[in-house]
Amino acid sequence: MEKKHQINVLYIVFTVLAVLMLQNFLLSRSQVSVIPYSSFERELQQGNVSEVVVSENLIRGTFRNPVDGKSMFRTRRIEPEMADRLAKFDVRVLGETEDTWLTRLFSWIFPLLFFLVVWMFVIRKFAERQGLGEGYMSLGKSNAKIYVESDIKVTFKDVAGVDEAKTELIEIVDFLKDPARYGRLGGRIPKGVLLVGPPGTGKTLLARAVAGEAGVAFLSISGSEFVEMFVGLGAARVRDLFKQAREKVPCIIFIDELDALGRARGVGPLSGGHDEKEQTLNQLLAELDGFDPSDGLVLLAATNRPEILDPALLRAGRFDRQVLVDRPDKTGRVAILAIHLKKAKLASDVDADQIAALTPGFTGADLANLVNEATLLATRRNADAVAMEDFNQAVERIIAGLEKKNRLLNAFERRTIAFHEMGHAIVALCLPGSDKVHKVSIIPRGIGALGYTIQRPTEDRYLMSRKELENKMAVLMGGRAAESIVFKSFSTGAADDLARATEIARSMVTQYGMVESLGQVAYDKQPHSFLGQQQEMTWLERRYSEETAREIDCAVRALVQGAFDKAVGILTRNRATLETTATRLLETETLDEGDLAGLTTGLVRAEAAE
Ligand code: ADP
Ligand code: MG
Ligand code: ZN
Repeated sequence: MEKKHQINVLYIVFTVLAVLMLQNFLLSRSQVSVIPYSSFERELQQGNVSEVVVSENLIRGTFRNPVDGKSMFRTRRIEPEMADRLAKFDVRVLGETEDTWLTRLFSWIFPLLFFLVVWMFVIRKFAERQGLGEGYMSLGKSNAKIYVESDIKVTFKDVAGVDEAKTELIEIVDFLKDPARYGRLGGRIPKGVLLVGPPGTGKTLLARAVAGEAGVAFLSISGSEFVEMFVGLGAARVRDLFKQAREKVPCIIFIDELDALGRARGVGPLSGGHDEKEQTLNQLLAELDGFDPSDGLVLLAATNRPEILDPALLRAGRFDRQVLVDRPDKTGRVAILAIHLKKAKLASDVDADQIAALTPGFTGADLANLVNEATLLATRRNADAVAMEDFNQAVERIIAGLEKKNRLLNAFERRTIAFHEMGHAIVALCLPGSDKVHKVSIIPRGIGALGYTIQRPTEDRYLMSRKELENKMAVLMGGRAAESIVFKSFSTGAADDLARATEIARSMVTQYGMVESLGQVAYDKQPHSFLGQQQEMTWLERRYSEETAREIDCAVRALVQGAFDKAVGILTRNRATLETTATRLLETETLDEGDLAGLTTGLVRAEAAE
């Protein structure tokens, strides 16, 4: 945006300069001679002036007989008395010098430029406040960046772990390959397909792969490009896009970030009367209704926030097919890794299965990034090939943020952290069905965490029992429980643990109906969990009474307290192990799975009567 303005200003300056110089040049070559006032006076006395035009500053006129080959002249006007006196002493009066193109530049170009700059500054501020992006300066001209690619090399082979989405899209590919044949049985291809899923799961990649597989042109544009300052421009862009597409059929139009333009009309605090967005959206709807897919034009769009889309967009005959592109499961991750590992030179110990096991929740983009990080690490240590250790480090790096070596903690803090982390670990080791403890460390990482315990699920989980949730909470409370047993006090280090435990407890009460006293009632809506983001609950009305709210709070508190007591119970029984392992952790700073197994042989796993 910055750059664009500078170019605009430069254009103006250059144009003005060019015009002035041209004018000057023409003037000097023309019939007009610029003469000193004294020469004018002389010619006048000699009777050589036939005609004059006197203006405020200038005297223009014509000679009877051309002087120096020029029949017209121009000179600066001088006050009469002054002229008289000067003439008396035979002074050569030069009046013209002031009026060069340079002075003109100073006298009016600069003020003009100044106002131009101020004006642009104001407009930019205004646009920023309105949340508008680029393009508000380009009045009337649609320079939306429509990327047209006709020879895409990406195919379905380059996308893995999203088999369901692929199956749905294969139909589109078949159709695009031969639109005429497809309609032979009267079948109707969906006009629009909406790819829905969290960022980085390969939506853009999939859309390109569809074009690549079908061998058709791919027109892509981002929804945010349609957001314009002036009413009607966005709509013009939509028209333009579809016009271009019609010239290129069979082809695919891909609108990325559809939510930027397809936001529900008239919802939310700020959208009242947002004419421009509404017009753009209406235009898109009109185009969607207007085109006939049997020509071979397919509209794909991607969003990670389908819930804010205008319902009109999702109606039959528009984006009537939604394809979920979710985070990959373990087999999916293995397949994605296989794609990205192909590009790297690998040592023999690298095992995609093992890496996939370490990375639950990673998206395709995360995995691509992981491979890249590992390659960089291997390059840094001058290795011939990327080894498994590089991948382990890269995973840790990505998960916990970069190691902060320069962060110093005093001895007491370190002791507290060691006991806290061992608390988590021992509770996890004692409770059956908990995720394996992979590593305990008191090396501070990232911004927030002072130490960390990495637990890795042995498998991807989609369902959890009440028992498992309670155990998970107990593990989270283990850190604080250890602190309370050993130091008889609490530190601030457990804030995140508390928040997470409370979150689990709250979900158990309000979403999963796991507390008897409150019954099996869902009090809160389940957030769209695959999007990985919480909805703003403040928006939703509370649909239960004041008393229920109090009961929910009590139940949540009881659950968290129960988890804490459970953790305290386990740690008290294993006080000796806690001490030895924490002391060891202080020495070595990290303990991995093997170390822990050796140190915790004496662990009392049996749970007290419960
Ligand atoms: P999205 O559009 O969903 O945010 P992208 O398609 O832009 O995600 O993905 C970014 C990059 O991550 C891709 O270029 C690719 O390298 C990698 N990637 C993402 N998902 C996959 C996948 N399912 N298979 C292979 N690579 C993937
Ligand atoms: Mg994308
Ligand atoms: Zn903790």
